Amino acid sequence: MTSQPNDSASASSAPLPATTSIVGFVAGPLQTNCYVLIDSARTTEQGKYPAVVIDPGMGAFATIQEQADEQNFAVEAVVLTHGHIDHIRDAQPFAVPVYIHPEDKSMLSMDWSNAPFGSMFEAENMQTPADIRELEGSIDMAGATWEIHHMPGHSPGSVMFRVPGLILGGDVLFCGGVGRTDLPGSSPEDMMLSLKKVVTEFADDDVVLSGHGPQTTIGQEKATNPFLHEVG
Ligand SMILES: [Zn+2]
Ligand SMILES: [Zn+2]
Repeated sequence: MTSQPNDSASASSAPLPATTSIVGFVAGPLQTNCYVLIDSARTTEQGKYPAVVIDPGMGAFATIQEQADEQNFAVEAVVLTHGHIDHIRDAQPFAVPVYIHPEDKSMLSMDWSNAPFGSMFEAENMQTPADIRELEGSIDMAGATWEIHHMPGHSPGSVMFRVPGLILGGDVLFCGGVGRTDLPGSSPEDMMLSLKKVVTEFADDDVVLSGHGPQTTIGQEKATNPFLHEVG
């Protein structure tokens, strides 16, 4: 698990190997999509498949512990698309390194109990992860090197992770919608620039696994999503 500055642009980027599988489920009161990337091409010293958790919402820790026993994987890192409570709620209990963009990093240590949604997520029971690392450039997860695209607007440190053909999109782009920009730290202006990048930098066949709702593709959203027409 490394995140490194992106000197060579996305030159090293390759599609997800067939030995990597993705398990997705919905967690918590805001129906947040949580994903587990499992690399069955390798095993840890304990004979388990190494896995990475994306956006562990409320309840994700218990769900993933069960899955880990059944499917013989071990979580080696938690990686966050952004710092909102519905995506970070269960990051700390895994006791592994937690990766987040520097501009959302403070959300991992802030007191959410008086913030919007705090009580809904039992924020008083949250603790700051012990090992927080910053996302920058690209990141190796589950047998692939993922491009990290900084897409501020919904939150200052929102990112989208991409390998050719697949994007883990967080709350930037949804099937038929985009992330809210009326939250503390949001910026509608930044969101417009980020959506412009979505339209110009990604491939039409890229499948998008969003932070909420069903999966989609860049091509489908370019054709049907009114928010992308505004920026195109
Ligand atoms: Zn969010
Ligand atoms: Zn969300």
